[in-house]
Amino acid sequence: MRPLAILGGTFDPVHIAHLAVAWEASELLDAEVRLMPAAVPPHRPPPIADAATRVALLRAALQGQDRLGLDTRELARGGASYTVDTLTELRSEVGDRPLVLLVGADAFAGLPAWHRWQALFGLAHIAVLTRPGHGGEWPGELAREIGPRLVSDPRRLHAAPAGMVVALEVTPLEISATRIRDLLRAGRDPRWLLPPGILDAPALLDDYRER
Ligand code: ATP
Repeated sequence: MRPLAILGGTFDPVHIAHLAVAWEASELLDAEVRLMPAAVPPHRPPPIADAATRVALLRAALQGQDRLGLDTRELARGGASYTVDTLTELRSEVGDRPLVLLVGADAFAGLPAWHRWQALFGLAHIAVLTRPGHGGEWPGELAREIGPRLVSDPRRLHAAPAGMVVALEVTPLEISATRIRDLLRAGRDPRWLLPPGILDAPALLDDYRER
C-alpha cells in the first residue's frame, strides 16, 4: 500500500530545502507526503512567527503542485506537539497503511530525547533525510534501537505498516530556517532560498524582519 509520510517541523519559515527534500522523499518512497507544522515544539525555543503565519507561508509555498500536502492537526490540537500522539491519531485513521516519519539527520540524532521515542517504531517507519553537516553518527541507544530495523531499499516500507528505518539520500542543500531568519533580520532578501509562492506575499515575512 502506498505509504503516508509526514515531515514535521516548525517551518519558521518554510524554505526551499523543506520542499526539495519532501519532494524527493515522496519520489524515493513512492509516498504521499504531508508537511505538518508543530504548535509548541517540545525540543526548541518557541517559533518567531505565530501558527497562522507559518501556515499561510506553507500554503503559499505549496500552491500549484499536487505531490506535497499540508496537515495542520498539531496546530488544531494546541499544546505541546508530541509526535507519538500525532502518529497514534494517524494510525487510528489509516488502518494498516504504512506510515513514515520523515526526519532530517540533525533531528534524528536527537530522537532519544523525544517523548516515548521507542514507541514511535511501533507506529511508523522512520526515513532519515541526509542533511549537510550532519553525518550518520547516532548516539549508542539510538544505534542499538535502529540496528535491526535498518533497510536499504525505501520501497520495502510498502510491505509493513511500521517498524523499519531507511536513510534517504536527498540532494544536499545547506539551507536552514535559522539562516533565512538571520538574513531577514539583517535586512537582506533571501529571495531564491524561499519557495516562489512566498514572493507574492512578502508581508508574511514581516515578523522576521527587524522592527
Ligand atoms: P531551524 O534552522 O529553525 O532549526 P530547519 O531549517 O531545520 O529550522 P525545521 O522546520 O526545523 O527547519 O525542519 C523540519 C524538518 O525538515 C526537520 O526534520 C529537519 O531536519 C528537516 N530539514 C530542514 N532543512 C533541511 C535540509 N536542508 N536538508 C534536510 N532536511 C532538512
